[in-house]
Amino acid sequence: MKNIFQDEKTDILTLLKKIVNQDSGSFNKDGCDAVGNILIEEYKQLGFNIEILQEIQNGNHLYITHQQAVDPDILIIAHMDTVFPDGTAAARPFTITDDQIAKGPGVFDMKASQVQALYTLKSLIQENHPVYKKVAILLNSDEEIGSITSRHYIEKYAAKAKAVLIIEPARGKQLTTSRKGGGKYYLSIKGKSSHAGAAPEKGISAIGELGHKIIKLHELNHHDGVNVNVGVISGGTSPNTIAPNAECKIDIRFETQAQGEWLDHSVREILSYSDIEGTQIKLTGGITRPAWKADTASMKLFDLIRKEGIKLNLELEPIYSGGGSDGNFTGNLGIPTIDGLGPIGGNAHQDTEFLLLESLETKGMLLINTLKALNNIPSFKS
Ligand SMILES: [Zn+2]
Repeated sequence: MKNIFQDEKTDILTLLKKIVNQDSGSFNKDGCDAVGNILIEEYKQLGFNIEILQEIQNGNHLYITHQQAVDPDILIIAHMDTVFPDGTAAARPFTITDDQIAKGPGVFDMKASQVQALYTLKSLIQENHPVYKKVAILLNSDEEIGSITSRHYIEKYAAKAKAVLIIEPARGKQLTTSRKGGGKYYLSIKGKSSHAGAAPEKGISAIGELGHKIIKLHELNHHDGVNVNVGVISGGTSPNTIAPNAECKIDIRFETQAQGEWLDHSVREILSYSDIEGTQIKLTGGITRPAWKADTASMKLFDLIRKEGIKLNLELEPIYSGGGSDGNFTGNLGIPTIDGLGPIGGNAHQDTEFLLLESLETKGMLLINTLKALNNIPSFKS
């Protein structure tokens, strides 16, 4: 059998190196657009049309279909942004150790997936397998910050799809079939400054207020199926001043929609009043991703992929992930979705992030064979 991941390995690694060495943090529009431009050129050479979905603050998103496409109904989603700040690529650029392990910012989450998708399509075109005309690819630039601007494109294009394949990376021989929902809040508290020694009675401590709120928010963790984390705090001006301001960032996770609604309500309730008289509380943010649990249609899609895996000696299992992805949106809408179809590695979002190079081939071949098999399936909803 033809294997593009072996035949074109040198070009594949050159492209991977090029996009890993281009910083593309979610807040770096120029960087995300630079990665997008590299991919646009590659897709154009294969005969694809690229619709650039312009953004002002974040990087642009790309919607890609072949010039010969006819009603594409298989949607592949991958993000171009990373969690790493500017300068990371210069500080620790792309490397390969022993021909086996690749490192560099975003190599695993999820720049290798970009290369996997491109070469998957290239292989199908070379073979002249007609499924390349049925595939649409959506590349977004804000997944790591909750897909705020790309969400409506994801939902719009997924609505036409019989299957959505999220090629987020994987930790092992697992495919993600469920994910927790989540949200983010920003809390800002105003108090009143005063000298801590000379006139403490004239001050109102915003930090004191924040302390009460952190304890109450974290107590919500005693309830099943939910997580609350105050992950960042700041406030105050000097040790001898009653703090006039305090801020924090809060992350929430939940397993079901009902738990999500309860949790959102509870957070708002706790922050709707002051524990210390005279403080003012401002809350922004909310739920960013719904919870997703694979339904029957998604599990039929999983089964199709699992069978293709067996032919490649891959024993794939379904897993539940605490982290969110764009699969939360499409899965929650009831569109057959499977996630974790990207290459294998680990330590995402950390300096020690790594990619097992061999898995680029294994998961690439799985994606090729999955697309071919999908070509024969009219729908999973019956
Ligand atoms: Zn990711």
